[in-house]
Order: sequence, then C-alpha cells, then structure tokens
Amino acid sequence: MKPRNSLNFSGGPGALPESVLRQVQKAILEVPEVGLSILGISHRSDWFASVITELENNIRTLLGVSDNYHVLFLQGGATQQFSMVPMTLLRGKTHAADYLHTGYWSGKAIPEAKREGPVNVAWSGADSGFNRLPGDDELAFSADAPYIHYISNETVEGLQFHRVLGRDDVPRVCDMSSDFLSRPCEAERYSLIYAHAQKNIGPAGVTVVLVRDELLNDANADLPGFLNYRSHIQAHSNFNTPPVFAIYVVLLVSRWLMNEIGGVASMAEINHSKAELLYRMLDNSDGFYRGRAAVRDRSLMNVVFNLPSPEMERRFLSDALEAGFSGLAGHRAIGGIRASIYNALTLSAVEQLAGFMEDFRRAHKA
Ligand SMILES: *Cc1c(COP(=O)(O)O)cnc(C)c1O
Repeated sequence: MKPRNSLNFSGGPGALPESVLRQVQKAILEVPEVGLSILGISHRSDWFASVITELENNIRTLLGVSDNYHVLFLQGGATQQFSMVPMTLLRGKTHAADYLHTGYWSGKAIPEAKREGPVNVAWSGADSGFNRLPGDDELAFSADAPYIHYISNETVEGLQFHRVLGRDDVPRVCDMSSDFLSRPCEAERYSLIYAHAQKNIGPAGVTVVLVRDELLNDANADLPGFLNYRSHIQAHSNFNTPPVFAIYVVLLVSRWLMNEIGGVASMAEINHSKAELLYRMLDNSDGFYRGRAAVRDRSLMNVVFNLPSPEMERRFLSDALEAGFSGLAGHRAIGGIRASIYNALTLSAVEQLAGFMEDFRRAHKA
C-alpha cells in the first residue's frame, strides 16, 4: 500500500505530515485533554488559550525571534495582508513604499498597495517573463520608503530569494506564504512577516503574522477593528471567533517540526536534498525537461518546468496522475509542470517522482 499523503505535489493546499493527520483524525472525534471534538471547542476555553500560547512560543523558537515580535493568527489569507500592510503603513504617507514585482503573487500585492498610497516598483521581472530574480545592484530603491515589500518565494514561477533583501534602515515586510518554516530566514531582520498556513504549515483558514512592536508605533490607527493589528495583539488573536481547528493543526505541525524533524535547519537540509534530486533530473535530461527559473534563483519549494510540447505535458500529467502523483499541473496562469515539495512532502515521495520522470523521459525522448 502506498503511504497516504506522501504523493501530494500540489502548489496549495499542500501535503501535511502523516503523523499530524493521524492526530487530527483523533481530534475530530475528541481532543483527549478536553473531551470534545476539536470542531466544537470554545475559542474562549482555557485549553484554546494554551494552544495559542504554545504555538506563539513554538514559532518564536523555530525562527529564533524574541518577544518584541507579536505572533498573530489572522484570517483572510495572504490576500488580506496585501491590503492590511499598506492600510497600516502606507495610507496617508507621501513617500513611496518599495515593492518588488517578481511574479504572479507580488503582481497581486502591488495593486492593493497602490490603493492605499504611493508605490515604487523597485524592480520588475515582467520584461524577462519572471524567470529570474534581481541582483542587489538592480534594485532601484526610493528615498525614505516607509517599508520594502517582497515575496520570498514566488510559488507560481518557482523563484526563491536565497538572501535577505533591502536595507537594514528600511523596515522589511515579507510574504513568506510558500516557504515559511522551510529554512532558517534571519527573521529578526524583518519588521513584518506573513504567511498563510495552507502551503507549508497547515490547512487554509489561518495566516501567521509576525510583527515587530516598534513597527506599529506610528502606524495608522484609524482602521476597522478587524483590520487593525493592534486589535488582534490586544485580544491575543481572539478578537472574534478564530479558526480554532486550523490553528490547532498548525500547532501540531509546529510540534512535528520541533520534535520529529529537529527544527528549521534540519528541515532545510531535507528540503535541499529533495529539490536537488529534481533539479538534477532536469539538468541531466538532455533538454527534455526544461527548468523555468534561473539556476541561481531556483526555489526549494516549487520546481517548475516544461516538456518539449504542450501535448507531451498533458501526457506527462495524465501518466503521473495514474501513477499516483497528484497536483503536478502548473499554475493556471503559466501552465507547464510544477512539483511543489513543501515541508511535509517526504524525500521518499520525491525519489518516486524522480524515478517516474526518468522512466517517462526514456519512453518519450526523441
Ligand atoms: C498562494 C499565495 C498567496 C495567496 O494566498 P491566499 O491565502 O489565497 O490569499 C499569496 N502569496 C503567496 C506567496 C502565495 O503562494
């Protein structure tokens, strides 16, 4: 029997660890410490308060940040953060915020920021078809920017920054939705990090926000309560009914990362091995599999590639599905193939995919 959940290569929602799913299965019926289903436990219970506290601490420990960072569990996904960040930090400002346009998701963030205030696009990959990321010497920063915003991993194009961007005197805001907790990230060099759960650390419904307290000192306070970070800080992520279930699953994933994997550095080693296996397969395929991203900017989370023709790609996808590999179709915006190899996708699953790719190439090469 194939191990369940090991062959989900979807771009999101992504795979979750087998051991976590087994605990979730039990918790649907009854959380032992409470005697109730996870789906019916009050968000005002002491138990849930302890879940929030433990998860906050686990995230601080995993990322190595101190308690001048608030850790929030919000709703509305990363998309809500595309708006909430500039509402808070850009509305009413005269100096432009720096935004990097590196792919599909940053292309969604920029128009939302422009609704709120002036935006300087410090670099755009549009001309090069979003197949590479900028070098530091290509970034055209504006003076006195209230912050710089970028996306650490462009999920659709498979582009990932392997360094921290920007300048230390301008607050960094980063969307880490598709590589959060996949590697050490020097979190304290950012003023605000956000990541929805459903790519790498849990189910849809909750978005983790780490925000440095000082960043909010002169933030816009005239916002609806729900859209104000301060409300959620004061309410300890319990401003209105939070998604108890999703938050609980993220807690289980954080325990798995700490206790079974051994932290984000160990996770990064595993993720490197997984990505290397697939990129080696592309590079040694005599041009049959063509990687989309510039080698330097290759993502360890989303391996995006093309085959010699669209027909061959369709064949690849249908054969792969039959062989038990799910979710390999590229994002609808760009097509092609995308193997998403988030934290919970095992090395063994990637080895199986690499084996399938080798067999497919031998059967179909010209
Ligand atoms: C998927 C994705 C989003 C969209 O997130 P939602 O939670 O659906 O709003 C935003 N940013 C990145 C980097 C993503 O991968």
